[in-house]
Formats: sequence, structure tokens, C-alpha cells
Amino acid sequence: MDKSKLTEEIKRLREQRKAVILAHLYQVEEIQDIADFTGDSLELSRKAAETEAQAIVFCGVRFMAETAKILSPDKTVLLPVMDAGCPMADMIAAEDVIKLKKENPQAAVVCYINSSVEVKAVSDYCCTSSNAINLIRNIPEKEIIFIPDKNLGSFVAKHVPEKKIILWDGFCVTHHRVTEKDIEDVRKKYPEAPILVHPECRPEVIGKADFVGSTSHILKYTRESRAEDLIIGTEMGILYRLQQESPNKKFFMLSPHLICPNMKKTRLEDVYNVLTEMRNQIKVDAVIREKAVTALDKMLKFS
Ligand code: SF4
Repeated sequence: MDKSKLTEEIKRLREQRKAVILAHLYQVEEIQDIADFTGDSLELSRKAAETEAQAIVFCGVRFMAETAKILSPDKTVLLPVMDAGCPMADMIAAEDVIKLKKENPQAAVVCYINSSVEVKAVSDYCCTSSNAINLIRNIPEKEIIFIPDKNLGSFVAKHVPEKKIILWDGFCVTHHRVTEKDIEDVRKKYPEAPILVHPECRPEVIGKADFVGSTSHILKYTRESRAEDLIIGTEMGILYRLQQESPNKKFFMLSPHLICPNMKKTRLEDVYNVLTEMRNQIKVDAVIREKAVTALDKMLKFS
């Protein structure tokens, strides 16, 4: 089937299945083009929960589809490519969290949304890269076990020095590839251009950047900036949206290695196939879901 026929068929199936298609901003362009909503993982899951749709197709990685299922337990959630996972989310298991809690009984566990539903279920609070600082500043506990991203955890610790933050040795394999040398090289090449990085980057990279923020914060910065050239230090799928929002600006990647292979696995054929067969359904145990919802609800209360 050629691309236009495939797109047509997906639209037909979306109607037939009463489905909503979500695409993370790191997805390939053809997927972002057919989506009803594009954005970051929590934003997408919340938007889908508000719709009347009976099914959600989440074009992203597994923990994102799980988050959608947590927030929409009565909807069918489909993940187009079952082995699209997040290496960082896989760096910690629920048993690791339980052990950490035993070793630090006075500490609260704050888990980044980039984690499995089982890990969320044994955590006290969930957070996103947009709200992690505010959440940790506002919760009553003075000691925090931050999982799984040590880079985001270090960034938070720097901004909330009054709290003791215990880090786990996890990281995003994509953002962690960026080095200080990348910053130095790009600074020489484009001395006037602000360098924007995601807090999943290493602390030494964050320390040399002009702006640090989540994907939504980076989007906002670029919309409002008067700079004509900007350097982007997050996954390169975001360029598509940046260019759509600011067609007169030029965006350059901080590193050519900012590509997440898992985010690039989903193709139109995969979306077509799951909608045709209603396969790759994400199942979440009801008890685990209940506990994970509590961590997510507490995030909304404090962030
Ligand atoms: S970009 Fe990083 S955090 Fe996001 S899915 Fe890929 S590995 Fe995971």
C-alpha cells in the first residue's frame, strides 16, 4: 500500500474503532502527521483520557502506553510496536525500589514518569521533567530517593539544595551521549545561538547550556526567543514541531547522536496493523494500576 492509501486507511479505521492516535514529539514525521495529538507523554495521556474515544493508539514507547492505560483504564490502549521500550525505564525494577526503601525508610520515592507501571506502583510520587523541581521542593519529605534518571535527579538536587536527594544510576542512553565537547564545538560554530538542553543530559553539559528544560519548555523558549538560530539538545524528532511553530528560525542539533532508536521504530504500517487487528493491547493489573494512580495523583497535587 502506498503512503496516501495507508493514511486514508488509518483514518477510516480510526473512525471505525473510535480511536484517538497519539504521537510523542520524538516520533518520525509521518507518524506526527497522522496523530490527533502530539506532545509529551503525560500531556498526551491526559488529553486522550478526556476524549470519548474507545481506543488509544500510543505512538511512543511502552511506559507511555502504560501511562495512558493508567489514566484511561476503560479504553483499549494499543502500542504499535511491542518492543519499542525505553532503556532508561528498564534500568530499574520494582524490587530495586523496594530494597532502596528498606535501606532509606525515612525517604520518599519520586519516580520520573519514564518508568514502568510496576515501578510507579511502589513509588510515593511521580514527576515529569517539567514539574520535578517544583514537586520535590513542595513535598513535605526532606529525603528523596529519585529514580531512575541520575541526570534529571542531579539537576533537581542543584535547584533544591535543602533536600537530600539519593540518586539511582539510571540515564537516558540518548541524552547521555551528548558531551561537553559537543557544547564547545557548537559554541565555536554558532557563537550567537542559545544552546537549549533537556535535563536528561549529563550535569557537565547542563552546566554549559544557556537553557535547560523539558520538551514543552524548549518549545516555549523557541517560540518566545528573538534569536534566529537556536541549538537543540534533545531528541531530534522535536525539530519537526519546532520548525512548524517557528518557520523563520533555524535550528541546529547539538549532537548528531541525539536519536532514540526506540522512538523511531513506529511506522504507518504498524499503526494500520494494530488498528486492523486491535492487537498489541496494553494490560495493567488493577491493583498495580490503583497504586500507580496514587503516585500520579500526588504529583498533580504538589507540582
Ligand atoms: S529518548 Fe531516552 S528516555 Fe526517551 S524513550 Fe528514548 S531512551 Fe527512553
